[in-house]
Amino acid sequence: MADKDKTSKGSVRPETTVVHHGRDPFQFHGFVNPPVYRGSTVLYKTFASLQSREQPYTYGRRATPTTHALEEAIVELEGGAATILTSSGLGAVSTALLAFVSAGDHILITDSVYQPARAFADKMLKRLGVETTYYDPHIGADITSLFRENTRLVLVESPGSQTFEMQDIPAIANAAHARDLWVVADNTWATPLYCKPLALGADVSIEAGTKYIVGHADAMLGAVTGNDRAARFLDRVKEALGTCPGSEETYLGLRGLRTLDVRLERHQRSALTIAKWLEARPEVAKVLYPALESHPGHALWKRDFTGATGLFTVILNPVDDIALAAFLDGLHFFGMGYSWGGYESLVIPFDPTSYRTATRWTESGPALRFHIGLEAVEDLVSDLEDGFARLNAGVA
Ligand SMILES: *Cc1c(COP(=O)(O)O)cnc(C)c1O
Repeated sequence: MADKDKTSKGSVRPETTVVHHGRDPFQFHGFVNPPVYRGSTVLYKTFASLQSREQPYTYGRRATPTTHALEEAIVELEGGAATILTSSGLGAVSTALLAFVSAGDHILITDSVYQPARAFADKMLKRLGVETTYYDPHIGADITSLFRENTRLVLVESPGSQTFEMQDIPAIANAAHARDLWVVADNTWATPLYCKPLALGADVSIEAGTKYIVGHADAMLGAVTGNDRAARFLDRVKEALGTCPGSEETYLGLRGLRTLDVRLERHQRSALTIAKWLEARPEVAKVLYPALESHPGHALWKRDFTGATGLFTVILNPVDDIALAAFLDGLHFFGMGYSWGGYESLVIPFDPTSYRTATRWTESGPALRFHIGLEAVEDLVSDLEDGFARLNAGVA
């Protein structure tokens, strides 16, 4: 666990933080990057050093200079008091929830939450005696109406990573804190560069590092950052669960982080261009991207975020599966696959009616989630243009 007060670089802009935090070249013979420490056992030189517990590293699971470097950079970016790393983004969500709940508790989770997190709540937490209520992501301050005597925690995710509802995090956090509840935010879409949930009132911010922080689709990673109030709980849950990412994955997170700002700039620019282009297409009913003025959460996005990333959803006008397959199967630059946040463009069809429980999904056409990668935007547009021609002809 990295504590913010142990960092020495002071307060600088986030673009500088991603380059400089978590690096101390002259501790490693001047090499720019920290080495990949592969290690379990850490030796103590003397009995006295074992007794004193003053050695900075004691066991590979607790920390290595590599994991410490990434924690130090992330805790600074999030403006938190402590960061712990996990071996995946879903691991970050489940670890963050386990840090705060006990048998007999009730928690509130947005209906727009990353879908596999529902399985953790509905199966595992339920078995441990924790009850979950899913709520309308647009609920805002009215979340108070769902609080019970035993409510412990509210999970927000803004925007939802498939359906893109923006949540009023400050309103929800105010309501929750009036009752001394924990507020946990999944911040994967925005990354700590474009949204700082702790500054908006959340106690904990979660990043699926797998996405933009790693940024190259080559590793799984998660991070949980807490404010002062939450830090102690995160340290405890880390100790109890033994959560730690692999050395190589941690290094890939550090490596990805260094270019996060410039990558996001391009993702954002291209995504906005393509979202606007798609919005004007006759085959498209709606584009769900908070940076578009047409998005119902645009004002919240403008108020609370400093940027938009490369992920959005398109609702097509109703078409049959043959036409949809013709569109998808012939695309050259958009791979079909889950996850996102790498340098490459992706598209994936999905059906929110299959998992929603608190709110109804009323769109009638197919939903496609796009990730806009770092390719030339002209090539992506022309790929999509050809796709629509195939869709309209109904043949691949
Ligand atoms: C992908 C994702 C996760 C899970 O991350 P993994 O590393 O794939 O386990 C959690 N939350 C959100 C919003 C995500 O997009």
